[in-house]
Amino acid sequence: MTRPLVADINLHALRHNFALIQALNPSGSTLAVLKADAYGHGALPAAQALADLAPAFAVASLEEAQALRQQGITHPILLLEGFFSADELPIIAEQGYWLMIHSQWQVEALTAYQAQIQQPTAWTLWIKVDSGMHRLGFAPQHLPSILAKLEKLAPQSMLLASHCARADELDHPLTQQQISCMQELAHQTGLPVSLANSAASLAWPAARFTWQRPGIALYGMSPFTGPQPEADQLQPVMTLRSALIAIQDYPAGSQIGYGGRGVLPEGGRVGVVACGYGDGYPRQAVEGTPVLVNGQRCPLIGRVSMDMLMVNLSHLPQAQVGDQVELWGARLPAQEVARYCDTISYTLLTGLLPRVPRRYL
Ligand code: PLP
Repeated sequence: MTRPLVADINLHALRHNFALIQALNPSGSTLAVLKADAYGHGALPAAQALADLAPAFAVASLEEAQALRQQGITHPILLLEGFFSADELPIIAEQGYWLMIHSQWQVEALTAYQAQIQQPTAWTLWIKVDSGMHRLGFAPQHLPSILAKLEKLAPQSMLLASHCARADELDHPLTQQQISCMQELAHQTGLPVSLANSAASLAWPAARFTWQRPGIALYGMSPFTGPQPEADQLQPVMTLRSALIAIQDYPAGSQIGYGGRGVLPEGGRVGVVACGYGDGYPRQAVEGTPVLVNGQRCPLIGRVSMDMLMVNLSHLPQAQVGDQVELWGARLPAQEVARYCDTISYTLLTGLLPRVPRRYL
């Protein structure tokens, strides 16, 4: 008998979602963003499942890239923040990782490294432009001088990259400004462009350019708060499942759980589910956050504890210990649960802790 908590990972849904996004831009390419352990789904199984569909992967660090390489993934892997220290360059060169270059110090470190090894390296450089996100990247007016320096390294290929800050807001003007900025730079330099994250790929056709970089949409989550025709075809990849491990009837006025936050003015049935914040279920989930018991919505009651949470079963008199619970996934979108937790689906998925076994389907 094991603790009844598992994250089912539907790799068929992952493949479906990748194919859907790739089909939005058949003349371009799509890489799969696998950082943060593929948003909590497991980077290696995700990479293996997408190996014949995705021409390249992207991660946030050399460690994440090396973990994939050492487990047999031979695809090109883009380091989304480039390198953090020049010490990483020998391995990056040896493995042929693609590099995002976002800062002057990286250009200098790369130039110094190249001079020191005195032999050409087949760098693939994605030059990050700040088109409006104001996080990483070169201002467009500095691009000509940066390109001139990088061309001296005789890279195998160069591309202009940027990141969308508000593409999930379907009527916000910033995305069109970012698109126009990258169109202009592509025209000036003749270089290919990568701009689109999931929201931009799904809803902003002109943002798709040469390489799309979807993350959250691969995992079946819509980045939008409302309906959107493309996003509505995504299939959730992760379903977090548990079970009722206890049921109790309480009299009127009973207070449930830590701090007595959950109150049953008229009394009622409460079920205990084997999942808590020690598994990554958000403690900030408010009362009323939906939980599926036997496929039926029940409201969360009281505070989430480390290993358990409680649900109000007053409208489910037939529920029994052992009954199936879904915390989020195929029938209860994680983005809906996230809204009750004042967060976004990204944090629920990436926040699922290693003690929750992943079961691959
Ligand atoms: N590209 C970059 C540079 C990112 O940082 C991310 C994720 O934050 C992505 C692409 C994928 O974004 P999303 O998960 O919204 O599709």
